[in-house]
Amino acid sequence: MKRLLKGARIVDPANGRDGTFDLLISGDRIARVGLALTADSDTTVIHVPSGLVVCPGLIDMHVHLREPGQEHKETVATGTAAAVAGGFTAVACMPNTNPVNDNAGVTEYMLKKAAEANLARVYPIGAVSRGQKGEQLADMAELRRAGCVAVSDDGHPVATALLMRRALEYAGMFHMVVIDHCEDQTLKGDGVAHDGFVASTLGLRGIPGEAESIMVQRDVALAELTGGAVHIAHMSARQSLDAVRYGKARGARVTCEVTPHHFTLNDERLSSPRPYDTNAKMNPPLRDELDRAAMCAGLVDGTVDAIATDHAPHHYDEKQVEFDRAPFGITGLETAVSLVFDRLVHAGAITLSRMVELMSLNPARILNVTGGSLSEGALADITILAPDLLVTVSVDRMRSRSKNTPFGGWSLRGGVAATIVGGRSVYLNDAVNLQL
Ligand SMILES: [Zn+2]
Repeated sequence: MKRLLKGARIVDPANGRDGTFDLLISGDRIARVGLALTADSDTTVIHVPSGLVVCPGLIDMHVHLREPGQEHKETVATGTAAAVAGGFTAVACMPNTNPVNDNAGVTEYMLKKAAEANLARVYPIGAVSRGQKGEQLADMAELRRAGCVAVSDDGHPVATALLMRRALEYAGMFHMVVIDHCEDQTLKGDGVAHDGFVASTLGLRGIPGEAESIMVQRDVALAELTGGAVHIAHMSARQSLDAVRYGKARGARVTCEVTPHHFTLNDERLSSPRPYDTNAKMNPPLRDELDRAAMCAGLVDGTVDAIATDHAPHHYDEKQVEFDRAPFGITGLETAVSLVFDRLVHAGAITLSRMVELMSLNPARILNVTGGSLSEGALADITILAPDLLVTVSVDRMRSRSKNTPFGGWSLRGGVAATIVGGRSVYLNDAVNLQL
């Protein structure tokens, strides 16, 4: 089966394209991209309405799918349904499941569930250490063979400098990046919010930015020592950005990601509109305005490599407790594109091409996975964006099993029109006038 997308604005930074082209899909591949392509008799022609944008499928390199073990929060099926509704053709899922993804059995189970759901591609991330206990390294050769694309102890930092050194050396042998949740646990202590004015006024225990940046500095030093590749997860503090800049300037193999909530919100969200709202509790915490602005600056100047959601579903009942006792984390798959459009692209901070770099091309490169471009012959993983669609975030309509978002009711400009994985339409937004 062939489908010809006619007259679409195509944004594909890997091939230096931003303009009006036709794109021919044949089976699960992109067959041709060019001007005035003609259709033969077995080709369905789709006229893409003006205003929509065709780009390489978005890749979220940091999600928690919760399966196995916490299926009341999310499953691979509900998480990937949320992913495609959010415009993501692929997600990389963290290993802090129960049991932990530190062996081939768990990796294969996740991949089997993903194949059954048959929506977004799922790239499992294996644990750095057995049981994520921070003691012995997991068997990375086994994890790689089973289908893991990277390693991380996310939820926790890689516990010690020695373990991180070994992880960088060992993962590098299998062409995997080590993704670190950077947090000095002695400095974090039992903190629940950013250590600043807002936390003080609310009587909440603080977590300083240095709890993160000290660990980023360690990882940058060890990346330089070993020649290994480290990726800093969910960066939130301006001091961390400085550490990444320093590492990049010295040629260390360091990359980093920022979440939509860290470039959109600051810690004032803890006091208004509703004080102690547990949907504003995440780790790392929402930081102050200087930090938020610094994350935006890093996204603009190229220091930040990727936007990732850190989609962290929690059941309603788990969040309906005192702020101190609530689990950290919010969902993110279904609000990311709208936040990026509204806060960055329409605000004039970044171009559409840079958006595609941050959400597709760079994640593909960092994880060394397929995707990130609309090259001829590539798998037809495609996201069709609706930059001017007015979106009201409706918690009830979300496909994720969990509803813990601080963005419910927000009005944003920009959304997703359709998501195509391997040539198959897996999501079509009925608010957009598009027939696929
Ligand atoms: Zn984390």
